[in-house]
Amino acid sequence: MRRYLIAGNWKMNTTREEGTELAKAIAAGSSNATATVDVLICPPFPYLIPITEAVAGTQVQVGAQNCHFEASGAFTGETSLEMLTDVGASSVILGHSERRHVFGETDADINRKVLKTLEKGLQAVLCVGELLEEEESGLTKSVLDRQMDGGLKDVSAEAMANVVIAYEPVWAIGTGKTATPEQAESAHDHLRKWLESRYSADVANATRILYGGSVKPNNAEDLLSQPNVDGALVGGASLIPENFLPIIEAGVKVSS
Ligand code: PEP
Repeated sequence: MRRYLIAGNWKMNTTREEGTELAKAIAAGSSNATATVDVLICPPFPYLIPITEAVAGTQVQVGAQNCHFEASGAFTGETSLEMLTDVGASSVILGHSERRHVFGETDADINRKVLKTLEKGLQAVLCVGELLEEEESGLTKSVLDRQMDGGLKDVSAEAMANVVIAYEPVWAIGTGKTATPEQAESAHDHLRKWLESRYSADVANATRILYGGSVKPNNAEDLLSQPNVDGALVGGASLIPENFLPIIEAGVKVSS
């Protein structure tokens, strides 16, 4: 059985104090839920240490929003996986649509990061998803295939145990426009079939596929109820405990 994962991507938001308070509120409010579902929060880099400290002793996991694949050296502005491990991060979001479309990351760039993340023993949350014009042109599945082929190149079946896929249609991120549960299920079903044909039925059954794109308390349960939706990657709603905690609770509800 796949355990639901509810992950919060804070993007470039919060002050240190706000982030610490938010993390504490999420940890306190999800203390029962974490017996059933996994909860991950991904704050900005400078707050990884205080937030890891704020949730110490709880089941809330802390991750980063990006990384560099080199260990150290002349890479101004970058953060290595060694550094992330050093400060207690256990996961990294990779290939987020803002990294792809605002910062120009290619599938090859993302693949180098995925490989290094797995080599270092962290969980890689690989985001894939189509642009609005691609969706309107019926290209969703071919875009997903290309991003999966590129992002998971040379990733072994064993290493897939530490990979989570997040399907995030770009037109649904931060727009308030959510994929219908049927649209999400169709894309997730396609991704699971991709995993089966590239790896095996076992890998496909074990890999979690999250949905992301304007997940809110009022749509979480319908999305999470779909057979191939194993959790949510949440942006805006993860910044407010009153919004994020009900999404975690929706994960608990659909798990039972
Ligand atoms: C995201 O940033 O990954 C995201 C899904 O954002 P939002 O929930 O705000 O659409």
